[in-house]
Amino acid sequence: MGSLFLICHYFYQAPKYLFWLGLGYIVPSFSVAAQSFMSNLELALCAPLLGGMYLFGAWASAYAMALRKKAHAHSYWCFGLIVIALLLLSYFSYIDNELWIRMLILNFAIATVESLVLFSIFRHYQDIDIFNKIVDFSYFFIVIYTFVRSLIIYLFLSNIEADMLVTSVWWLIMLAASIFLSMWFAIVLLGTLVRDIIYKLNDERLKDPLTNLLNRRGFYEKAKSALSCISQDTYFLLMCDIDHFKRINDQHGHLIGDSILQQVGQIIRENVRDQDLVGRFGGEEFILLLQVDDQHQAYTIAERIRVNIETSQLSVSKISVTASFGLAQIFEQDFIRAIGVADQLLYSAKRSGRNCIGLDHTKVISPCIELKL
Ligand code: GH3
Ligand code: MG
Ligand code: MG
Repeated sequence: MGSLFLICHYFYQAPKYLFWLGLGYIVPSFSVAAQSFMSNLELALCAPLLGGMYLFGAWASAYAMALRKKAHAHSYWCFGLIVIALLLLSYFSYIDNELWIRMLILNFAIATVESLVLFSIFRHYQDIDIFNKIVDFSYFFIVIYTFVRSLIIYLFLSNIEADMLVTSVWWLIMLAASIFLSMWFAIVLLGTLVRDIIYKLNDERLKDPLTNLLNRRGFYEKAKSALSCISQDTYFLLMCDIDHFKRINDQHGHLIGDSILQQVGQIIRENVRDQDLVGRFGGEEFILLLQVDDQHQAYTIAERIRVNIETSQLSVSKISVTASFGLAQIFEQDFIRAIGVADQLLYSAKRSGRNCIGLDHTKVISPCIELKL
C-alpha cells in the first residue's frame, strides 16, 4: 500500500501528502518484518531502533493528514514525544528488560503522536463531502483504536512472558484489527483520491484553461442537458465576438491579448445569472445560453454585457475593447441551428459597424439607434 502511494506521488503527480503517507506505511512495515526474524534477546537489543521506526511512521501519517487538510501538524511536539518514548524504550530494553512495558510505551506514544493532528483537523470541522468525512473519521477511529490497544496491553498483556505473547488471543486480535484498519484506511483514501482525479479530469475536459469558462464541448454537453429538461422557459443563444482583436494582439502582444480574453470572459460571467451557461466558443468568441422569459429580457442581458465590455479598462495596459453580438431564439431544443442563426446575426452586427447586437433574422439594434429611439 505504501509503495502504491509513493508510485502515485512520483509517477502520477498525486498530492504530496501521499509521499508521507507512503512512508507512514513502509517504514513501520520494515520494523514488523525485522521483528519477525528476531529472537527475544535481539528484539530487546533493537527495541529503540524498531520503536523509532514505528514512531516515525506514526508521525509521517499524522503529517500526511495535516498536509491533506492544510492543518497544523504539531511536529515539534511529535518529535519531543518521540525522543521521550525512545529514552523510555532504551531504559526498558537495556536496564530493566520488560517487554509489556515497552509495548505499552510504544503504543501510547504512537497514539499520542497520531492524535496531535486531530486538534487541528477537527477544531473547525466543516467538510461536507462524504468521502472526505469517511477518510477523516477513519483516521480518528484508528487513533482511538491505538489508545484502546494501549489499554488492552495494560489490562491483559502485562507481565506476559515474551515467549507466550504470540499465543495470546488479545495479541492476535490486536494484530488482525491493526491490519484491517490499515487496509481500510488505505482503500478509502485511494477511493477518495481516484474520485478527485475523475472530478478534475472531467472538469478539465469541459473547461477552457485560459478563461475558466466552459469550452465548446462543455458548453454543448451542458446546453443539451439544460434543454432536454421539460420546462416552460424560453432559451436564447447569444454569440459574442470581440471587435478587431487581431489588432490588439498585434499592437500589445499575445499576453495582453490573453488577459483581455480572461477579463471579457469574467465580465460576461458577472452579467448573467447562475442558470445561464457561458462558454468560450473558440479564439475571441464566446457563447451563452440564456434562460429567459422573452426576447426583451435576453436583449437586456446582451446589452448589459456589451456596455460593460465597452466601458471597462482591460489588462495592465488599460485597453478598451468592444464586442459584437448575435442573439437567436432556440426553437424545439435545436441549439445547433440556433448557433448558425446567431452566427449570421453576429456577422450582420459586424457589417453594421460592430459594438452592437444582431437581433432576430433581419434586425440589427445598435446602441446609437437605441439611444435615438
Ligand atoms: P473582427 O472584429 O472582425 O472580429 O476582427 P478580429 O480581429 O477580432 O477577428 P479575426 O478573426 O481576424 O482575429 C481574431 C484574432 O484572435 C486572431 C487571433 O490571433 C486571436 N486569438 C484567437 N485566440 C486567441 C488566444 O487564445 N489568445 C490571444 N491572445 N489571441 C487569440
Ligand atoms: Mg472571431
Ligand atoms: Mg473578433
